[in-house]
Amino acid sequence: MIELKNVNKWYGEYHALVDVNETIGTGEVVVVCGPSGSGKSTLIRTINRLEEIQGGNIVLDGQDIHDPRLDVNVLRAGIGFVFQQFNLFPHLTVLENCTLAAIQLGKLSAAEARERAMSLLERVGLAHKAAAIPSQLSGGQQQRVAIARALTLKPPLMLLDEPTSALDPEMVGEVLLVMRDLARDGMTMVCVTHEMGFAREVADRVIFMDQGAVLERATPQDFFNRP
Ligand code: ADP
Ligand code: ADP
Repeated sequence: MIELKNVNKWYGEYHALVDVNETIGTGEVVVVCGPSGSGKSTLIRTINRLEEIQGGNIVLDGQDIHDPRLDVNVLRAGIGFVFQQFNLFPHLTVLENCTLAAIQLGKLSAAEARERAMSLLERVGLAHKAAAIPSQLSGGQQQRVAIARALTLKPPLMLLDEPTSALDPEMVGEVLLVMRDLARDGMTMVCVTHEMGFAREVADRVIFMDQGAVLERATPQDFFNRP
């Protein structure tokens, strides 16, 4: 589904991604880990073109994502993303935040979108906040809204950057259960996380980055059971 071929990225003089080659299959769940500043966020942001690359190419379902004929909005409509900045619309309710994209893109009718969003809000423990606006929620609650919003679109691919960073431990467990169900349903996921529960319970593969390069690939079992 995703092929990264010799991907190189510079921020000015700084070489942020160094010859990254990675193939991620449909339905595969990959956790990206590594020290702060190693290029994890940059890597996943290249996949929906939030970051442009200066070398190599990225192919998504057979389509080069840098093909000039490809509309970047069409590309992003097929990718759910949950990043650390939640980017919720401040003047819309929680429910409206979740349903807006699905309705605008014509993926779901308003009624279907509401029904789906409400069931996801319920899953993440926020059905009672459906009518609230984002500023009335805590950071952890906003993070859960961002997750429910991304999932309302039922995207075949999800990119997640520290999706549980603002959650208290109890909520991390809840969100992991949601992710595990999605993985079982066949959703492809690439997730930057320090949450080892995610790697252990949800991931098929862990890739470890350092200084912009992929240093290691392992199954979660091998990754955690090494001496
Ligand atoms: P990670 O997600 O592993 O913490 P990042 O991908 O965020 O790493 O960043 C990798 C490196 O690139 C870091 O050294 C960071 O400071 C640098 N970097 C990230 N974004 C930018 C940017 N917009 N401009 C310049 N340098 C950046
Ligand atoms: P993360 O590593 O988790 O992505 P950061 O705090 O490194 O979080 O980055 C937050 C934002 O700041 C990102 O949009 C990133 O591109 C940008 N950024 C990070 N490092 C730099 C930098 N050295 N110069 C400019 N922008 C940066």
